[in-house]
Amino acid sequence: MSCSLWPPVNKEEYKGVWVYLERGGDRLKDVGLELLGKARDLAQKLGGAEVGGVIVAGAEEMAREAIYHGADKVVIIDNPDLKIYTPAEYAEAIAKVVGRYKPEIFLIGATKRGRELAAYIANTLTTGITADCTALEIDPKTRDLLQIRPTFGGTQLATIRTPQRRPQMASVRPGVFPKPPRDTNRTGQIIIEKVEITKRRTRLVSIEKRLEKDVADLPPVESADVVVAGGRGLGSAEGFKLLIDLAKLLGGTVGASLMAVRAGWAPHTRQVGQTGKTIRPRLYIAVGISGAIQHLMGIMEARTIIAINPDPHAPIMENADYAVVGDYKQILPLLIEEIKRLKS
Ligand SMILES: Cc1cc2nc3c(=O)[nH]c(=O)nc-3n(C[C@H](O)[C@H](O)[C@H](O)COP(=O)(O)OP(=O)(O)OC[C@H]3O[C@@H](n4cnc5c(N)ncnc54)[C@H](O)[C@@H]3O)c2cc1C
Repeated sequence: MSCSLWPPVNKEEYKGVWVYLERGGDRLKDVGLELLGKARDLAQKLGGAEVGGVIVAGAEEMAREAIYHGADKVVIIDNPDLKIYTPAEYAEAIAKVVGRYKPEIFLIGATKRGRELAAYIANTLTTGITADCTALEIDPKTRDLLQIRPTFGGTQLATIRTPQRRPQMASVRPGVFPKPPRDTNRTGQIIIEKVEITKRRTRLVSIEKRLEKDVADLPPVESADVVVAGGRGLGSAEGFKLLIDLAKLLGGTVGASLMAVRAGWAPHTRQVGQTGKTIRPRLYIAVGISGAIQHLMGIMEARTIIAINPDPHAPIMENADYAVVGDYKQILPLLIEEIKRLKS
């Protein structure tokens, strides 16, 4: 898919296969090293391209470890503000380095953190991302990365390409590819890059904590039988409070679209969809959610879907068992009142 609002990309400028190397305490997580092995394989198929790695706020021993596992070049992002992980700032810093070195392919381990970063980075670099690939190949004719992943509940394999944008991005779960042997004779380049970021971390951390507190007494979204989820159509954090009231009355919990999470109305742990949780509740009530494919991917297996939306043509309405056309501010108070009446 190409978006006419995005500036065109000169594919010739992009070279090499790079990997995000996530830290786990004072060492690199295995998934990054596994991806370096796959990156070498892809680089060979691309005629001996360079294999690179990016570490945020890491030590030189980590970079050396990456070189022993197949990297030719490792960039360590040096910024004291990045010692503590926050997605927006990490993604901004990584996207700046990827934008500077211009790899043809950029791979990320699909850990909890990796999934979150992958979406942010792809969005910043205006490119595509295929999540949870189980195989990666190169099309010898076009040099496109073939991003292969299960689809339709695992019954089929989809092959996805990013023919017009660069870098081509894919995330891969830990353990999918073998960790390459550690070769301490390998040598490579370690580059320490000072990367400036926009200062907004403190605000993000405190919002996340407050939001977690608001929903602390509700079950996790992946284990509840009833999920009341809100999207951008709620318009405010106050709207989300109404969802919490309804969820409590129904003995369920709350979920959110990516846009509601980004607006700061719900914590990331509540996000449903491709880069959030995949859930199977008995009842899913979608309030102010348009039903983008990335959201629908998380609720394919919900037994009954009720959608509340003033737009009868929103995709969620076609996918709902019951579509209520209207403003949630009018509908939810009536629904809450009626449930209370029935319960009393
Ligand atoms: C790589 C990638 C991964 C992504 N992963 C996810 C993911 O995991 N989860 C996810 O949700 N999205 C994900 N997205 C984003 C997704 O594409 C959509 O942008 C997002 O789901 C839209 O969120 P929304 O429905 O809340 O907002 P919108 O699309 O803006 O929809 C808001 C809806 O609210 C309705 N509305 C307006 N006023 C009212 C009212 N008063 N009462 C009721 N309804 C009202 C509108 O009619 C509209 O349909 C991803 C995108 C990318 C590119």
